[in-house]
Amino acid sequence: MKNKFTKWGDKPYHSLDYYLKNTYGEKIYKIALDAGMTCPNRDGTLDTRGCIFCSAGGSGDFASHGASIREQLENGKKLFRHKKIGSRFIAYFQSFTNTYAEPERLKRLFEEALSESDVVGISIATRPDCISDNMLTRMRRNVSKSETYDLIEKFRQEVPGIHLRTTLMVGFPGETEEDFEELKEFVQKARFDRMGAFAYSEEEGTYAAETYEDSIPQEVKQARLDELMALQQEISADLSHNKIGQEFKVIIDRKEGEYYIGRTQFDSPEVDPEVLIKADGKRLFSGRFYQVRITNADDFDLFGEII
Ligand code: SF4
Repeated sequence: MKNKFTKWGDKPYHSLDYYLKNTYGEKIYKIALDAGMTCPNRDGTLDTRGCIFCSAGGSGDFASHGASIREQLENGKKLFRHKKIGSRFIAYFQSFTNTYAEPERLKRLFEEALSESDVVGISIATRPDCISDNMLTRMRRNVSKSETYDLIEKFRQEVPGIHLRTTLMVGFPGETEEDFEELKEFVQKARFDRMGAFAYSEEEGTYAAETYEDSIPQEVKQARLDELMALQQEISADLSHNKIGQEFKVIIDRKEGEYYIGRTQFDSPEVDPEVLIKADGKRLFSGRFYQVRITNADDFDLFGEII
């Protein structure tokens, strides 16, 4: 839809916060969880020291350790009850690499969180952060640029039609113009279906914070961030146009004016394009999936019709 910048509150994009507030009628809070995982950069598979920007708690310093997922959720809810805020939550698997376990164990953990009636979703993520070998080595990521490219290629070969999303970081200490050029080239070549980015900020107690000065000026970080996001916006718009004529499974989120608003099975309610279906025929229900043919696209959204 046009003029979304005003429609999405004070943000120029559709933030998860805004979406959740709109959907549930209240702010949804995250409860940080520690599922007892580690990561290949700490368990000795690749290294034991971890990435240099990661804290001893696996950047999961707000999560309570040792207790079951249910107990941690209960403790988190108590804190919110005490502050008299929040009645619905996101279970945020925060500590270490939260996908570093056998699929059966992951399924058990995620289902345990989702079985709580006041948990409306889970949050999990892993990401490459940077791409130049210079930065990856500096960060002690223990993965190379060519391995990252190969992995993306492998995903696409083994799962045709897979939608890939990622998060990248700009402005890590020592990031040169050349490093940033490589990052832009990565975004152009990988053509992620969705991409987010953020500017580095020091986390107290980490090797990076203790060893390197946060040397990239804030305005340079912001300029790199804006450039990267603008690049991705062009790619996203192009990928959206390529979807015209294709069919997707679409979940309906809400009705707004003369449109039902949904998103494809590959999209989360965060920054992603929506699918607009003219509400002039069959009645559609929020939370249900429908088979939809994409008929048009603009820079932000897809337009479709029920098949
Ligand atoms: S950032 Fe991730 S991969 Fe790196 S040490 Fe921390 S948990 Fe491990």
